[in-house]
Amino acid sequence: MPPSAILASFVGLSVFVLGWTMLLMALNYRESARRGGELPPDAPEGMRPEDAEKASEYSRAKMRFEFAVEPLSAFAVLAIVAMGAFGRLDSILGAAIGSSYWRGAAFFGCLFLLQAIASAPFDLYATFALEKRFGFNTTTIRTWLADRLKGALIGAGIGLPMLALLYLFIDRAGSAWWLWAAAIFTAIEVAISLLYPLLIAPLFNKFTRMPEGSLKTRIDALAEKLSFRFSDVFIMDGSKRSKHSNAYFTGMGKLKRIVLFDTLIAQMNEDEVLAVLAHEIGHEKKRHVLKMTAISVVFGFLAFWALDLCMGWKELYAAFGFASPSRHALILIVSLISGPATFFLTPCFAALSRRFEYEADAFASEATSAAALSSALVKLNVENASNLWPHPLYAAWYYSHPQLRDRLAALKGNGGRRIGST
Ligand SMILES: [Zn+2]
Repeated sequence: MPPSAILASFVGLSVFVLGWTMLLMALNYRESARRGGELPPDAPEGMRPEDAEKASEYSRAKMRFEFAVEPLSAFAVLAIVAMGAFGRLDSILGAAIGSSYWRGAAFFGCLFLLQAIASAPFDLYATFALEKRFGFNTTTIRTWLADRLKGALIGAGIGLPMLALLYLFIDRAGSAWWLWAAAIFTAIEVAISLLYPLLIAPLFNKFTRMPEGSLKTRIDALAEKLSFRFSDVFIMDGSKRSKHSNAYFTGMGKLKRIVLFDTLIAQMNEDEVLAVLAHEIGHEKKRHVLKMTAISVVFGFLAFWALDLCMGWKELYAAFGFASPSRHALILIVSLISGPATFFLTPCFAALSRRFEYEADAFASEATSAAALSSALVKLNVENASNLWPHPLYAAWYYSHPQLRDRLAALKGNGGRRIGST
């Protein structure tokens, strides 16, 4: 296959994916605009017309922003590839740097820097104009800058040794290098996810142990009843960045921590907080995290296999503008192709994720109550101004969580019994 045909296939696939994305976005926008601030037919208690109005306006403002960003970023990448700019950067670095490892590190460093500069205005607009307009943003420019700087340093601190390790495997581990590398990288990923709550998360947020009191006592009792083991409950200062709220677990085994956003505690009563927590425990008990991890491990192995398959394909490097094959060029090319190549798996993962959400809801309604979970979900929806009228095709393609109406209906129909096991 000549380089021009490879490039044409990549461009064709990317444009097709962009077209499909834009079509879904347009359908979603039209549906939202058509419904406006309309309340759902069986509007749940606690949802006022002005909430529906705000959700509609916020959703559409976000969509308009995406309408600009999606094609702009897709065409920017295609233009850079078609002009051979990646190859030119590589040649300049090659003339200045002898070591192939440092040449690769400098190559990715430059790409990271360019990407950070190009995306900054969009990110600034999203945070300080869009989110602020709807009263969600609480970030300061200082926090915003510090976040980016810390992210870059952590990325370099983890990325540079990983790159060296990858080069080592390619050079020394023979023809099955990709199998070894995939296994070790999976182990490293697990180690990082274990250390993340202890070492990395505190760099971005303050975590305070939940003080003894009624809520803490009830959380302990719930965990006991569900035989869920954890080390402690922490409150995170999510309000430092935005008013959006959340709850999650981190770590594994004895290191497991329950993390509640301060915004969640401020918005909900104790019954609702417990229902949200029970939902999260449901994910754990139903082994959803484990199943998702297993899937991502499989895809990790496939990615390393793809690197090995493409390694000796000279025309591929030429198609993406590189004068000569190199390991860093290979990594870039495979990661560029993987986006559009896996795009059509998006609805499968979304459907699986939604099924897990129904299962966790059913678990929570059994462990606490369907009424408490329902009112917690309504509050979350209202506080986050989530779209009440997504287009069905858009929701099926992208939504990792079922929309509010569907979740409430499932909880109602369920009456506290288990669902979603079919
Ligand atoms: Zn969930």
